[in-house]
Amino acid sequence: MSCLANISQVAETLKQKSNSRGLKLEPISVNKLDAKFREGILARMEGEDLKRCLGCGTCSAGCLVREVDKNYNPRQIARRVLLGMKDYFKEKPEIPYSCNLCELCQKTCPYGVNIGELCLVLRELLVEAGIGPLPAHKVINDDVEWALSPTFALSLPDPDAAKCKRAFFTGCNLPAYSPSLTMATYDYLREKLPGTGIILRCCGAPYHGLGEHSLFKETMGGLEHEMSKLGASELIVPCPDCYRTLKRATPSFELKTLYEVLVEVGVPQLLQNGHATFSLHDSCTARWEANFQDSVRELVKLSGHEIEELPHSRELTLCCGQGGLILPLNPMRVFSLTKERVAEAHFDMLAYCAVCRETLSVHKPSLHVLDLLFNPNWEKDMRKPPNKPSVRKDNQSLLKSLLMERGRTA
Ligand code: SF4
Ligand code: SF4
Ligand code: SF4
Repeated sequence: MSCLANISQVAETLKQKSNSRGLKLEPISVNKLDAKFREGILARMEGEDLKRCLGCGTCSAGCLVREVDKNYNPRQIARRVLLGMKDYFKEKPEIPYSCNLCELCQKTCPYGVNIGELCLVLRELLVEAGIGPLPAHKVINDDVEWALSPTFALSLPDPDAAKCKRAFFTGCNLPAYSPSLTMATYDYLREKLPGTGIILRCCGAPYHGLGEHSLFKETMGGLEHEMSKLGASELIVPCPDCYRTLKRATPSFELKTLYEVLVEVGVPQLLQNGHATFSLHDSCTARWEANFQDSVRELVKLSGHEIEELPHSRELTLCCGQGGLILPLNPMRVFSLTKERVAEAHFDMLAYCAVCRETLSVHKPSLHVLDLLFNPNWEKDMRKPPNKPSVRKDNQSLLKSLLMERGRTA
């Protein structure tokens, strides 16, 4: 059977399936369909799940992006790829760049189809075609370049230990949120686990998320190099986005979440701020990571506070709104998505991703779980609005100066 005949058959089957569910399809020009496009995408995706898509629309029904923007439709994305509608995504590159990459659809789809992964592959193809990333994404690439430059990037061994066994990888967002919190966390790790070094730099997740595969590979190579320079074999990571990205890149070193390490070594002396209940936001990037979810809950308990479980939590969690780097393309959409997320919460919110904390705080008082352990002013700071971009950069530079200063006086 020729490719064209094959794709026509797929088109007919999908049309019948969709019609039987009362869904309207736009006319499709068979001459514009490209089976190689479809096969190429299937080859890049893990597993065969996409082929089994039956057009049921469960992914669309649960997708928050779809809820706030009816032009975005995960079911239609799957269908167009299966039909081989190559030109469609070139004409509308903003479609794959609108996905939060939150993977809720993979959880809800009867066949486990991951439209987030599909959008990531489409982004990679757009980059290869010279279309992606889009002009609005320049600000993201500039930020990554900055976070990889000597203005911020730094790797230091523990000044008080002869050998560096492991490193604390701050990522860019925790230092941008609070250099003092990052420093207090690192000092506590060094006290409990002598021989813990520190690495400040970007993990490359934004390159990965925009589909810039070769830049991501280069960044990953840089991190491997820093680890071998320090002689460290284990990386402790606070950010679920860094963790997911690094884990999927199968690094040569061992990865641990900061929160499981803190449960293992024990929490610091309790801060005397009384007892509070928080609505806990699980990061979408930690959707499949029970180690993040369980250890954060344990830390909240150990710090003397309580949590409200949101209707969408753990594997069913919703994105804070910023996932998939969608902010520069459509800030108002992020505002609406966050509003939806926050609407489930009856209490002030608690997150374990610095970007989530900053995003949620636009609508509701919010904290990072590390605030409950290391920030004596958390009650006041809970009401702080998100940091402006210039403050974020100042905070990142400040952390580097503090560490350099300490290195000089050690
Ligand atoms: S939920 Fe799964 S099977 Fe249903 S339309 Fe979406 S991707 Fe296809
Ligand atoms: S990954 Fe998230 S935003 Fe993207 S289609 Fe799936 S549910 Fe929607
Ligand atoms: S900011 Fe937080 S919730 Fe949003 S994508 Fe990143 S990890 Fe997920």
